[in-house]
Amino acid sequence: MILDSHIHIGAIMKFDMSEEIVIRSMDRYNIGVAIVSNVEGVEFDSDLNELPPHFQKSQESINTRVLNFVKQHPAKLKGLYWIKPHLEGYSSKIEEFMVNNKEHFVGFKFHQYHSKMRFTDEKLVPYLNLARKLNVPFALHTASEEISLCEHVYSIATAYPDVNFIMVHMGLGTDNEGAIKLIKQLPNLYGDTTWVSIDSVLKAVRECGSEKILFGTDSPIDGVDTYEKYLDMISAIRTKLSEKDADNVLYRNAMRIFNLPSVDRY
Ligand SMILES: [Zn+2]
Repeated sequence: MILDSHIHIGAIMKFDMSEEIVIRSMDRYNIGVAIVSNVEGVEFDSDLNELPPHFQKSQESINTRVLNFVKQHPAKLKGLYWIKPHLEGYSSKIEEFMVNNKEHFVGFKFHQYHSKMRFTDEKLVPYLNLARKLNVPFALHTASEEISLCEHVYSIATAYPDVNFIMVHMGLGTDNEGAIKLIKQLPNLYGDTTWVSIDSVLKAVRECGSEKILFGTDSPIDGVDTYEKYLDMISAIRTKLSEKDADNVLYRNAMRIFNLPSVDRY
């Protein structure tokens, strides 16, 4: 069983990921369950210019698109609520949405770079308080540029010890050493494998423990065969780790962190 903890839908900027491709790709590569968020929540482009108004969609509309999708595949898909704290901000409607759809939405997604905001910004406080109240985790984009540093997530994870945080990419564009050091130090700080090298994934498991690393891919970012790039990683996880450690990385950690019902149901 494989659970992909990090996939997307959405068409914006260079991205074009349809619901149909997600399902086709999961079926083709035997991905049992995936956690999906909508990239249409980006607020700033790759040069950190604010996206023009006709590209901006509301938090509610982008997450409703995810909701409609996951509702069609309740045993296969769960959603993450992509937040837009920079241009839109918090509203009580978010809590309402999460509570009303708690069987379908299992956490929050925040993109430090494309929201042009460090995770330590005070605008994140109401979202963090809500994550704590609902007992759901936060998945964060982490990378080498200052605004996306893992250290920002570490500092918030220290301040919110009862919320789980997943550092997607474990510091994209780095050798992942910094992320591994941080993940090791806090019980509520996790790493994912999206765009991480096989060596770093194995090292992260060795140093931090297999219960701290989650399989994730960004599929279908490069189309229906994005998983092609991860086949060697999956096979390394299965052959170089014990069965228990491999299962932790490939699905058990995500089941636990996202509070998903027992795997036997899938
Ligand atoms: Zn992503």
